[in-house]
Amino acid sequence: MGAQVKVKCQCGLRAEILTGGNMANHLTVDFFPCYCGHCREVVQANLKDTSPKCPTCKSDEIIPYTNPKLRAKTWKNTFIKYFKDDLTKGYYKCPKCQRMTLQFFHGSIFWD
Ligand SMILES: [Zn+2]
Ligand SMILES: [Zn+2]
Repeated sequence: MGAQVKVKCQCGLRAEILTGGNMANHLTVDFFPCYCGHCREVVQANLKDTSPKCPTCKSDEIIPYTNPKLRAKTWKNTFIKYFKDDLTKGYYKCPKCQRMTLQFFHGSIFWD
C-alpha cells in the first residue's frame, strides 16, 4: 500500500509525494517526504536505502520529515493515519522560505 501526500506552504511551495511501498517491494522501498536544502524543495526519498538521496540533486544531506528538528514548536500530535504514523497535521519547516509554515495533507490512496 502506498499513499500520496500533498505538501503546501504559505510561501507558495507545493509538492505531491508518494509514500510507502507496495506488496512486492515494501521490504526494500519506503518512500517518505524529505527536506532538501540544496533544491529547497520537499522531495521523495527511499528511507530503506542505506544512504537516502535526493532524487533531483543526488545530495545525501536530505532530512526526513520524521526529524523533530523540522517540526514547529506548536507541533500538533495529530497523526495523518492513512499513510504514515509519523506525519502529523502540525507545522513543519519549509525548505523554500525556511519558516515553520509547511503542512501535509491527504492525497490519493493507492491500495495494491
Ligand atoms: Zn535536492
Ligand atoms: Zn514556504
